[in-house]
Amino acid sequence: MKQFACGDVVPGCSAHFKGDSDDDILYQVARHAHADHGLAEVPKELVDRVKAHIKGA
Ligand SMILES: [Zn+2]
Repeated sequence: MKQFACGDVVPGCSAHFKGDSDDDILYQVARHAHADHGLAEVPKELVDRVKAHIKGA
């Protein structure tokens, strides 16, 4: 199980995500970024930052 806390990348955001793989987490984060952060797409730079903060195996 992998985990990611959006607050590690976006200060003040309390969203947490769990998934079986990085791609699973990134898919959820993309939807969250669109719905809650107003991002039409997740820029590659942000994807890299998210990946750097995904914890677990
Ligand atoms: Zn967030």
